[in-house]
Amino acid sequence: MSAQTTQVDIVIVGAGMVGATLAWGLLQAVPELTIALVDGSALKSSAQNSDNHPSFDHRALALSANTVGQLQRWGLWSGLGDKAAPITDIQVSDRGHFGAANLHAEKLGARCFGQVLEVQPFGESITAKLSSHPQVQWFAPDTVVAVAPAVELTQLTLASGHRLNCQLLVVADGGKSTTRDKLGITASFYPYEQTAVIANLMCEQPHNGWAFERFTSQGPLALLPMSGGRTSLVWCLSAERAAEVQQLSDTQFIAELQQVAGYRLGRINKVGQRDSYPLQLMRTDHIVRHRSVVLGNAAHALHPIAGQGFNLGMRDVQCLVELIRQAKTVNSDIGSYELLRQYRDQREPDIQQVVQFTDGLCRLFSNRSRVLALSRSSGLAALQFITPLQKPVAELGMGLVARSFLSGHSPT
Ligand SMILES: Cc1cc2nc3c(=O)[nH]c(=O)nc-3n(C[C@H](O)[C@H](O)[C@H](O)COP(=O)(O)OP(=O)(O)OC[C@H]3O[C@@H](n4cnc5c(N)ncnc54)[C@H](O)[C@@H]3O)c2cc1C
Repeated sequence: MSAQTTQVDIVIVGAGMVGATLAWGLLQAVPELTIALVDGSALKSSAQNSDNHPSFDHRALALSANTVGQLQRWGLWSGLGDKAAPITDIQVSDRGHFGAANLHAEKLGARCFGQVLEVQPFGESITAKLSSHPQVQWFAPDTVVAVAPAVELTQLTLASGHRLNCQLLVVADGGKSTTRDKLGITASFYPYEQTAVIANLMCEQPHNGWAFERFTSQGPLALLPMSGGRTSLVWCLSAERAAEVQQLSDTQFIAELQQVAGYRLGRINKVGQRDSYPLQLMRTDHIVRHRSVVLGNAAHALHPIAGQGFNLGMRDVQCLVELIRQAKTVNSDIGSYELLRQYRDQREPDIQQVVQFTDGLCRLFSNRSRVLALSRSSGLAALQFITPLQKPVAELGMGLVARSFLSGHSPT
C-alpha cells in the first residue's frame, strides 16, 4: 500500500509554546493558509490529560508587554486573564553583598513590566483552538524521519509513514530538536552546570505585583507574582544541590528555600509540585536553510535568568508572520530564498544580542570573585538611584519591555 501524501502551504514541526503560537498567528494574518502541525506528543487539550506535556507544563512564564500585546491582538489572551498576574515592581539583589535595585513600572511610564502566565492553561486553550480549525491538520504523536528538499517544495516523511509536501518547513521542536539535525544545521551546547527547580508557592504576605530576582553563590533565584495570590519560584542550583532539594519533604524544602530567599513575602506557607530543568545555552550555526526556518528553542535555548526565552521566540514568530503576510499580499513564494534571507537578517542581531546579554549576566552573577562582587553591588546601587539607567536595564535585562523594532505597541 503506498504511503499517503498531504500537500499544505506550511508544515510546523513542534506545536509547543512557539510552534502553536506561530500556527495561530499565521492563520490570523493569512486566513487561507493551510498548515500541518507535527508534534511528538499526543494532542492534549484538556486539563485532565495535559499533565507532563513537554512545553505546556507547570511553569509560569514572565511575558513582556510586547508578547502580551501580541497574544491579545491574536485573541489568545481572552479567557486567560485570571491565569495571569502583572509585574509592577522588580527588586534585583545579590545575596551576601550590599546593593539592591528596585525598579517600578509606574516610574518608567508603564502600568506594568509584563505579565506572569501559567503555560498549562495557555496550552490547553491554543491547542483546542488549533484542533478545531479547518485549515489545520494534526499529526500527533508523530515525528519527522526524513526531509527531502526540492526546488519548488520540501517533502517530509513522518514516522507514521505519512508524507507531507510544503512550500515552507518551520522547525519548532524545542532545544533537543531532531528535525533541525535532519536539515544539517549544527547546534552547539554550553551547559551551565545548573538546574532550575520550579514550584508554585503560597506565602504569608501578598506579592502586590513584586518580582524578586536574587543572585546567590549557587545561581539566581526568582520569585514571580502569580494569579490567585501565588508566587512562582525559579531556583537555579548546582545539579547535585538541585537533586538534594528535590528529595526533601515540603517542610524541609520550605526551610531551605526560606534561608536563601529571605522573608520578602513573609513565611512560605505551602509549596506545590516541584519540577527541575537542567540549564544550558544552545545556539545553532544557521536559522534558515532551503525552504526551512528554525525558531524558538530549536534555534536558541537560554538560561531563564532574565525570562527571555519565549519572549525572544515570540519575536521570531512575529517576524515570520509579517514576512509571510507581505509575501502573500503580492502572491510571492512563501519559501523563497529572498523571504528566508530577510528573516535571517532581521532576526540574527536580536538573537545574538539576547544570547550574549543573558549569558553574560549569568556568568557575571555566578562569579565568586570579590572584585566582581563589589562591581555588582555598586552597579545595583547605581541602578537604584539613577533613574535614566533603569529603563534600558529593564528593557534588556528583564526582557519585559517592548524592544526597539516593535516600538509602537503600547505596554498593557
Ligand atoms: C525554568 C524555566 C523558566 C523559564 N521562564 C521563562 C520566562 O519567564 N519567560 C520566557 O519568555 N521564557 C522562559 N523560559 C523559556 C521558555 O519556556 C521557552 O523559551 C519556551 O517554552 C520555548 O518554546 P518552544 O515551543 O520553542 O519549545 P518547547 O517548549 O520545548 O516545545 C517543543 C515542542 O516540540 C515537540 N517536540 C519535541 N521533539 C519533537 C520531535 N522530534 N518531533 C515533533 N515534535 C517534537 C514537543 O512535544 C513540544 O510541543 C523558561 C524556561 C525554563 C526552563
